[in-house]
Amino acid sequence: MQHAQGTVVVTGGSRGIGAAVVQALAARGVPTCFSYVTRREAAEVVAEQAAELGTPVKAVRADVSSEADVRRLFAEAEQLGPVTGLVNNAGVNAPQARVVDIDVARVRRLMEVNVVGAFLCAREAVTRMARSGGGVVVNVSSRAAVLGSAGEYVDYAASKAAVDALTVGLAREVAEQGIRVVGVRPGLIRTDIHASAGDPGRVERLQRSVPMGRGGEASEVAEAVVWLLSDAASYVTGTTLDVSGGR
Ligand code: NAP
Repeated sequence: MQHAQGTVVVTGGSRGIGAAVVQALAARGVPTCFSYVTRREAAEVVAEQAAELGTPVKAVRADVSSEADVRRLFAEAEQLGPVTGLVNNAGVNAPQARVVDIDVARVRRLMEVNVVGAFLCAREAVTRMARSGGGVVVNVSSRAAVLGSAGEYVDYAASKAAVDALTVGLAREVAEQGIRVVGVRPGLIRTDIHASAGDPGRVERLQRSVPMGRGGEASEVAEAVVWLLSDAASYVTGTTLDVSGGR
């Protein structure tokens, strides 16, 4: 699989799916700059493991919901070379609740990180890619965008549906500039996000509802992301790939 020469920005690379993407890119020699917010030590471990593969990798503390932080993240990334890829992966969820019980501060926070963050990073990325002749944006959505997450987190599902619309609309805006915009919709993937939302046993509890009968691994999502970033996916844009074992 050929990757464009240049740097890939991965948001939320200190853990889970983002860390697996950083690892998969480093294994292919793609220079990568990733962000984290709270877990500096975990970020350093990811960066060290990637550096052991001989690939330039940089970890930057940057909250994707902060415009100033996002600008700084891209400025740091450019020091490794022109930005030709973005993986809009940083995302948060919240404890299970019905819509009638959800407070507005929670909805705002989910939208700030999952939607505003994705827009800010996409804007910074395509501005640079248009100047340097093209690139690829991969948005990490969720099967929740389609399933709706009733009784769990409809607000999170709605934030991911917004991400899917960003993929379709932005792809059409920038296609002529040599920029592809695509997405992945992970299903039940074994990462910390479930414990962070107060339900560490979620994958084990629900995995029988997956046609393939198991939860997925972060590396399985990362492989789809890496393919979408590569020239092997050169005619794929404005679409989102389910990586969910059929669920
Ligand atoms: P995770 O293990 O909880 O990791 C989240 C990552 O995002 C961490 O690196 C975290 O940084 C970072 N992050 C959180 N808030 C941020 C912010 N405001 N600015 C920058 N970075 C931020 O999550 P994951 O399961 O790997 O999820 C990755 C993406 O996949 C998310 O968009 C999620 O919605 C989506 N997804 C996951 C699943 C699943 O089952 N796991 C399913 C569907 C979709 P720190 O480590 O510093 O906190």
